[in-house]
Amino acid sequence: MALLNDFGLTEEQKLMRESLLSLAERMLPRDRIREMDENREWPREAYQALAKGGWLGLPYPEEYGGLGGSYKDIAVLLETLAYHYSGLATTYMTTPVYSGVHILHSGSEEMKREYLPALIKGELYLCFALTEPHTGSDAAGIKTNAVRQGDDFIINGAKCWITSAHVADYIVLVVKTDPDAVPAHNGFSKFLVPTNAKGVDIQPLDTVGRRTTHTNQIFLDDVRVPARNMIGAENKAWKALMGGLNLERLAISANGAGGAQKALSLAQEYAKERVQFDQPISDFQAIQHKLSDMRIKAELARLMAYRVAEMMDAGVDCRVETSIAKIVGTENDFDCANIGLQIMGAAGYSMEHEMQRMFRDTRLGPIGGGSNEIQRNIIAKSMGL
Ligand SMILES: Cc1cc2nc3c(=O)[nH]c(=O)nc-3n(C[C@H](O)[C@H](O)[C@H](O)COP(=O)(O)OP(=O)(O)OC[C@H]3O[C@@H](n4cnc5c(N)ncnc54)[C@H](O)[C@@H]3O)c2cc1C
Repeated sequence: MALLNDFGLTEEQKLMRESLLSLAERMLPRDRIREMDENREWPREAYQALAKGGWLGLPYPEEYGGLGGSYKDIAVLLETLAYHYSGLATTYMTTPVYSGVHILHSGSEEMKREYLPALIKGELYLCFALTEPHTGSDAAGIKTNAVRQGDDFIINGAKCWITSAHVADYIVLVVKTDPDAVPAHNGFSKFLVPTNAKGVDIQPLDTVGRRTTHTNQIFLDDVRVPARNMIGAENKAWKALMGGLNLERLAISANGAGGAQKALSLAQEYAKERVQFDQPISDFQAIQHKLSDMRIKAELARLMAYRVAEMMDAGVDCRVETSIAKIVGTENDFDCANIGLQIMGAAGYSMEHEMQRMFRDTRLGPIGGGSNEIQRNIIAKSMGL
């Protein structure tokens, strides 16, 4: 089985899907993904192939070398990459989506012209750093600070769980620039910090999954950054961060939709081939129902991702809907990997098959990008609770 039906997609989006799938299959055959997961190898060649195809420019306007794509285009792209391998979608989400858009939406014209064309050509790797060792969901509690010294700022603190920081050229770093601001988030600013600056130390963290794009701790010890590296206005970062949440949740939900479809494909393929009691296990109703449940979950994840993409393209306020999409996308993605593993029995539990990787990789979804408990808080608040 391939990706779910293409109803509602434009001819360009259908072509985009075909072209991205063939690129991903060519650059990352299944055995190669397994090898890279074992060796914790970042998928650089595949990312460069995306750059060469012009795909990194999809979220950016043509004036910076981009393709000026819609939110729905971005959803289609991420769903397709995640269908082949969610790690490839993560590379895309990290630089062009989570990090680069801060330069696009908050950066000066000079900064946009300096960094965006290079990012789109695949010459610039970024990571986004908000979370700290003692501050995850309560993002307003960050302690990393930047203090002005002449034309520079001196940054001190630590960031935690930062995806792909070990390959990044720059960190889009959220810091406190006004320690006395009330509420605290009124004193936040964003900086573009070179990873090779004196005082930056990046240490890998060991996690259950997502081993190719893995995650890191960043220590910042008297790091000197020119004031012109500030992204946007001083102490005004919070509003921009909140403004970027819809795109972040859309991206996570589209990623989940693609992953859920992949788990279904693999489980269905296996169930048709595996024979027990002289018949394929796909003949047992218990297995058929599991596959039906996966189909339902994959379809719902996709419906929600596309729905919010269309709402965002129409300029409709969809803060609550993007929270719902993030929950449906990530929980259905994990459920599909979990059910898929059960359908495969011991083979699913073995390191030989990729379902175990999907089970490990998808477990992050409900935790990262604003946990699903936080998303449910947002939904409850919107209901006056
Ligand atoms: C693999 C990985 C990659 C990551 N990549 C990045 C990255 O690139 N950049 C970045 O900045 N961060 C990144 N993160 C961090 C991620 O965003 C945080 O893990 C997430 O925001 C949750 O924070 P926490 O883990 O500190 O959990 P905590 O905030 O400590 O929460 C622990 C538990 O309590 C629950 N909880 C907390 N507050 C509430 C509440 N008010 N109501 C109900 N439940 C609550 C949470 O939902 C969770 O279940 C990454 C994390 C991982 C594991």
